Amino acid sequence: MGTVNAKGEEERARQVMEALAQARTQNPELADFYEFHQKVFRLQHEAKVQIAATLEMLDQEVLRARVRQGLPQLSFAQLPLEAKGFSRLATEIAQALGQYDPELAAGTDGLEEIDWLSLAGRRFEQGMVNEGEEDPEEAEMGLVEVAVDLALQPYLEWAAEQVMPHVDQESWKRGCCPVCGGAPDFAALVEETGARHLVCSRCRSQWLYKRLQCPFCNNTDHTKLLYYPSEDEVYRLYICQDCKRYLKAIDLRQATHRVVLAVEPLLTAAMDLAAQEQGYKARDF
Ligand SMILES: [Zn+2]
Ligand SMILES: [Zn+2]
Repeated sequence: MGTVNAKGEEERARQVMEALAQARTQNPELADFYEFHQKVFRLQHEAKVQIAATLEMLDQEVLRARVRQGLPQLSFAQLPLEAKGFSRLATEIAQALGQYDPELAAGTDGLEEIDWLSLAGRRFEQGMVNEGEEDPEEAEMGLVEVAVDLALQPYLEWAAEQVMPHVDQESWKRGCCPVCGGAPDFAALVEETGARHLVCSRCRSQWLYKRLQCPFCNNTDHTKLLYYPSEDEVYRLYICQDCKRYLKAIDLRQATHRVVLAVEPLLTAAMDLAAQEQGYKARDF
């Protein structure tokens, strides 16, 4: 235990790249968008397969106790970030971002001077959902923040793949990620039971959650929780009229295409626009 399953990661990367290439062919008007994500994914994958560290896992009993108390498993200090490699990755992603979005390009001055590691630590803490607390001030999301979040992702995924198998799904069922404490940005209704799994926006863990509850404010009033199915019923847009947030989902019982869950949030970008036009927000950060 402790290192990446290299074969599994190669296979996963192949599927993601294939799905992104297909999306790019099918949506020529979004070619730039998908090209940018292909570039970012390739950089993330290269970083992930180069991780040679071993994750210090929590003792099984401590892990179970944390799950029961609603505490995530991972701390920033456990991530095998090394200043030079991480700064290079974040800088390359920031440059790709600047090329993709000219509005952000102004932010690419002085990237070399940024203390990427400290920034990553701050973003890791900021992105943790504190249940029961007031919503934090919305963090400013400029080029540097987006880049550092994307650069952190392969390290979070690496840790999550090792921690998640030890988390008892039935004892968690919370609105935030059991591994890194992040918020979900996608959901999947699974094939066998139709149960709803949330997908972490940061480490891509999937965890079991209730069908009729808002993961952002815990609202269970079904008159204020609605969902809009897509015409083919493959996708759903869940909205909460209490906290005005939305969540995109795929119904795996209805999907006929080969689903690569890591790519689905990108394939459904039009749903984000539709929800935001109606005044709904994705999440806090
Ligand atoms: Zn997570
Ligand atoms: Zn809500």
